[in-house]
Amino acid sequence: MNSAPPYAPRLLPLRLPRVCVAVIGSDPNEMAEKAELLVLDNPFLEFRLDYLSKPGLAMPRIKRFMETHPGTVVIATCRRLASGGKFRGSIASQLDVLGKAAAAGCRLVDVELQTASKCKPEQLQKLRTRGALILSFHDFRATKKLDETLEKMLAYPADFYKIVSTATTLADNVTMIKFLAREGDRHSLVGMCMGEQGIISRVLGVRAGSVFTFASAIAGEETAPGQVTAQELRNVYRIERVDVATRVYGVVGDPIAHSLSPAIMNAAFRRENVNAVYLALHAKTLKDLLTCVREIPIHGISVTMPYKEAILPHLDNTDSHTTKIGACNTVVRAQDGKLYGFNTDASGIVRPLERRLNTLEGARILVIGAGGAARAAVFGLKERGSEVYILNRTAAPAKKLAHQARARIIKRPDLKKLAFDVIINATPVGMGNTRETPLQENEINARYVFDMIYDPAETRFLKLGKERGAQVIPGIEMFAHQAARQFEIWTGKPAPWDEMLRVVLLALQERTNRSVAAK
Ligand code: NAP
Repeated sequence: MNSAPPYAPRLLPLRLPRVCVAVIGSDPNEMAEKAELLVLDNPFLEFRLDYLSKPGLAMPRIKRFMETHPGTVVIATCRRLASGGKFRGSIASQLDVLGKAAAAGCRLVDVELQTASKCKPEQLQKLRTRGALILSFHDFRATKKLDETLEKMLAYPADFYKIVSTATTLADNVTMIKFLAREGDRHSLVGMCMGEQGIISRVLGVRAGSVFTFASAIAGEETAPGQVTAQELRNVYRIERVDVATRVYGVVGDPIAHSLSPAIMNAAFRRENVNAVYLALHAKTLKDLLTCVREIPIHGISVTMPYKEAILPHLDNTDSHTTKIGACNTVVRAQDGKLYGFNTDASGIVRPLERRLNTLEGARILVIGAGGAARAAVFGLKERGSEVYILNRTAAPAKKLAHQARARIIKRPDLKKLAFDVIINATPVGMGNTRETPLQENEINARYVFDMIYDPAETRFLKLGKERGAQVIPGIEMFAHQAARQFEIWTGKPAPWDEMLRVVLLALQERTNRSVAAK
C-alpha cells in the first residue's frame, strides 16, 4: 500500500521546487544518509536506484526515510543501461523496482521512452496509479528533433515529459529554450541540455517553461554530464529568483571551466540586488557565441582567451581605449541589439596602483611583456602620466607598443641601473609554477611588484620582490578590479568591490585546496 497522501497530479507541478537533487549511494543506507543531510535545504530529491547493486532491497530504507520526511518529494529512477543508466535488469524488474519505490513513498517515478515503448499500456497505467509518471528521453549526443521526440512521447499518458539533450554548441541551448517556451504552456515539461555547454539551459530553462531542473548533491557526484551542484544553482546562480526580467551575462572563452568570473560577478549582482545572472559560456567559435547573444538574449559578456582580439570585427563600436589596445574584454548589448566593446584590463592595473601610490603621474613603471595585458597596462599608465618602460622577450612587439604609446624600451642588462616605483609582470611566466620568475632577485629594484598572474596566489616573482623589501600586489586584485569596472559598465552602479574581492579570494582558496587534496 502507498503510504503517501492522496496525490493530485495536475496540482503537483505548481508545488514542486525548481531544483531536484540527484542522490546516489553505493548501498541503500549510504543513499538515505546522504538524503538525510540534503533534505534540510532540498525538499525535492531523486533517488537513483540504478546506482545500487540491488535496488529491490532498498525499499525498507526508503520507506523509513519517507516516513521521517513526509514533506519531501522524491523521484524514483532506475534507469536501464540501454537508456544511459546503470540498471542491468529486465524491463519487468525495472517496473517492479519503481512500483515498490512508489509504494514506499516516492511520489514520482521516472520511466524512459525506450522502456515505455516496450511496455503494455496497462503496465504504465498501473505504475501511474502509484506515483506521478515522468516519461523521460535522453539524447547523449545532440540537441535535435525535440518536437518529434515530444510528439512520440505524448502517445504515452504521463504527468511530466522530460527531454534531456546534449549541447555541443551554445546555440543548442537556444534550441532547447525555444522548445520549452513553445511547448511549456501546453505540457508539463522538464527540459535541459547536458554537457559543459548546457549551463544556459540548466539555469534559464526554468523560466522558459521547464517545471524544474536537476542538480548534483556535491561536485563529483554528477548523474549527468554538466550537472551543477544544488548549492551552486542556488547560491551562485540564484535559480529560485530567475524570472523573465532577469538579465543574462556571461564570460566567454575556450576553455572556460575554471573561470572565477561567475563566482565574482554573481556575488556582485547579489550584493547590489541586481536581477541578473552570469554564466560561464564555453564557445568553440565566435559565431556560436553571437547567435546566443542575439537569441537568448545576453546583455553583456566578459571576453577572455582566445577571443579578445577576434571579437573586434563583430562589434558595432568600441571606446578609444579598446581601439588603442586592440583587444576587448567587455561587451555590452544595447537595447537595439548593437554590440559595444570596452577594455577594463587597464582599470584592473591602474586602480590597485592608485589605491597605494598618491598619484601615478610621473611614477616610473616597468611593464614586462608586450601582449594584450601589457598593452592595456602601458596605455592605461601612460594616460595617467606615468613614465613607462617595456621589457619583452621579443623585440618587435615591444618596439611597436613603445612607439604607439610613447613609452620606452629597456634592455634586460640595463635593469640594474634603474629603480622603479612599480614593476609589473604581464607575461605568463610563473603561472601554475612557483619556480619560474620573469626577473631574478638582483634585477628587482622597486617599491611595488605587481604580478598579473593569480594562480598561484603568491608567485615566485612576488616572493622575490618581498625579499627585496618591495610591497606586493597579487594578480587577483587586477582580476577583481577589471571585473568591478565591468559591473559598473553593465549596471551603472558602483561595484561592491570588497565583496567581490572577498568572494574571489575564497573561490581561489577553495580551488587551491581542491588541487592539494587531489594530489
Ligand atoms: P599574451 O597576449 O599572450 O602575451 C604574453 C606576453 O608574455 C608576450 O609579451 C610574450 O612575449 C610574453 N611571454 C610569454 N611567454 C614568455 C616566456 N616564457 N618568457 C618571457 N616572456 C614570455 O598574454 P596576455 O593576455 O597579455 O596575458 C599575460 C599574462 O597576464 C597571463 O599570465 C594572463 O593570465 C595574465 N592576465 C591576468 C589578468 C588578471 O585579471 N589578473 C588579466 C589579463 C591577463 P613574446 O612577445 O616574446 O611572445
